[in-house]
Amino acid sequence: MNPTSTNYQQLLLNLDYLKLKQMTLHLDEVLDFSVHNELSIIDTLIKLTSYEIDVREQNMTQAMVKVGAFPHRKEIRDFDFTFQPSINQQQILDFLTLRFLEANENIVFLGPSGVGKTHLATSIGIAAAKKRTSTYFIKCHDLIQNLKRARLENRLESRLKHYSKYKLLIVDEIGYLPIEAEDAKLFFQLIDMRYEKKSTILTTNANFNTWDEVFQEAKLANAILDRVLHHATVVSIVGDSYRLKNHLTKENE
Ligand code: ADP
Ligand code: MG
Repeated sequence: MNPTSTNYQQLLLNLDYLKLKQMTLHLDEVLDFSVHNELSIIDTLIKLTSYEIDVREQNMTQAMVKVGAFPHRKEIRDFDFTFQPSINQQQILDFLTLRFLEANENIVFLGPSGVGKTHLATSIGIAAAKKRTSTYFIKCHDLIQNLKRARLENRLESRLKHYSKYKLLIVDEIGYLPIEAEDAKLFFQLIDMRYEKKSTILTTNANFNTWDEVFQEAKLANAILDRVLHHATVVSIVGDSYRLKNHLTKENE
């Protein structure tokens, strides 16, 4: 210890050495509060360390949301349930408790374009990431392209393992583009690896009875559906496109 420095200065140096930035920033305020309210040393330390913990938790949460690769940051508060009365709001709120993750259950959002499938899937994904659940959002087409590239480069196994590790994987837009049977096998492998171990949220505009066409092989489509739907809640949305609603209101203005 530098003999000329005060205890207070030494404490600042220690906090700086330990990279406890928030505790440094809030030190004076906490010391004033502690003196004024005659806090015990323990209570003072709790107050001071809480500042550091709060900021670290916030940073961690932000990092998890970033890793999730969501298409946007739309959350459930941005969703207008009155516009889409076929959706059971309580059911969506129940998903947001993340209970389905505990049971490794899947969710399938089924419906035409613009009814909010991606928005709802993203909201649930962000809620999971905020709770520090490893979550990843990817469009079906991109997922398959990635797996194909990995197969070409002889690293399919590790790529499949990578995608199978997420506690929650969101696969968006199944059925918009047809998938060749050879590529559908890759998707099946991933679904099979996650089956009963991890939760997957799927969004699709294709009714299940047309998945033969999407995956271009009935046996494969059935095997995928079988595993996806075994422990799943299907949210079937019937209604108007929200995109169209905005378009129409703009035109009417
Ligand atoms: P889908 O994936 O079903 O095609 P999206 O979730 O992408 O539809 O929704 C299209 C756009 O409309 C997005 O910008 C989304 O945030 C918005 N949207 C859809 N439904 C609602 C709603 N009920 N309330 C608020 N915004 C909505
Ligand atoms: Mg969508």
